[in-house]
Amino acid sequence: MEEKKIYDTIIIGSGPAGLTAAIYNFRADMKTVVVSGNQPGGQLTITTTVDNYPGFPNGTGGMKLMMDMMNQYKNLGGEIKSGLVKKISDLRSQISESGTNFEVEFEGGEKLLTKAVIVATGASAKWLGIEKEKELIGHGISGCATCDGMFFRDKVVAVVGGGDVAAEDAEFLTKFATKVYMIHRRDSLRAQIPQQKLVLNNPKIEMVWNSEVVGINDGSEAENLENIRIRNNQTGEEKVLEVGGLFVAIGRNPATGFAKELVEMSEDGQILTGRNEEYRTMTSLPGIFAAGDCTKVDYRQAIVAAGDGCRAGLDAEKWIKSQEN
Ligand code: NAP
Repeated sequence: MEEKKIYDTIIIGSGPAGLTAAIYNFRADMKTVVVSGNQPGGQLTITTTVDNYPGFPNGTGGMKLMMDMMNQYKNLGGEIKSGLVKKISDLRSQISESGTNFEVEFEGGEKLLTKAVIVATGASAKWLGIEKEKELIGHGISGCATCDGMFFRDKVVAVVGGGDVAAEDAEFLTKFATKVYMIHRRDSLRAQIPQQKLVLNNPKIEMVWNSEVVGINDGSEAENLENIRIRNNQTGEEKVLEVGGLFVAIGRNPATGFAKELVEMSEDGQILTGRNEEYRTMTSLPGIFAAGDCTKVDYRQAIVAAGDGCRAGLDAEKWIKSQEN
């Protein structure tokens, strides 16, 4: 009977964190596979221009950057598998001598065996869910002010949300925009007090309280954002704001549901790492590592995710060796 292949690492996710971990593991002669998920390449594939990732004198496209990373891994000979992971099982209590620690089960039922797992599944922006929003992402609507802010120089823009990210985004955008509306559904901000003070005292930011965005490009079939309609949820009054940019900062959904029972997470599903001093990307379960936006990150940037992926790859390699000694 043919013996079942045992991977050293199964890397779940094909964004900058997953692919960087994979490049490091493959180059260390480890048996590695990347599970590419629903959106191969991850969140960056829906970003138009990336000009804050070092190494590209004229910037590059989000999709191109991710395809280049994927091809770098593939050209080394690395394996990529499409599909979604449903469950990870810890086999150590059942089989103690095989060297196999985990079984990774896919939605279709296929099962793979591995010594370690790196979860790099990312997070997706929460969107408002209103008409024309999806079509205009990348055409005036964005989920990342740090990435796209500079394309809105001398324009009027709006930010939706009242948390730390919305406040940081609003303040950051005043560097470029002539005016920033900060639209929040309540009459007080959730952001921390120092951050609140910065936005409330900035003359370029106009707070729009108790309001929700209910329409986009009213009466227009334009390919780029031209206006938003907002409704005051106390009075029902509606008005149209002419804006060239809309930054949606109402939170994120980490793609970690499949690991809920397995590793410790924050209330909103971010995987917790950083407790083990020797393996900083290790989760609460030894042998499972996590990197990038599916963890509790401070900066949601591709370069940070790539660095984190490098760390997870090296941590997994070192941890596997430690188990063999
Ligand atoms: P957040 O703190 O959960 O804030 C989300 C904001 O969006 C809230 O103001 C919420 O309104 C609003 N919102 C949610 N759903 C909405 C909807 N459908 N329509 C309109 N508004 C909606 O999320 P975040 O700002 O992304 O921050 C995530 C975490 O990272 C937080 O714990 C934050 O403190 C932390 N963070 C910290 C720092 C820092 O320390 N410098 C920087 C960035 C982020 P309500 O207030 O009414 O619920």
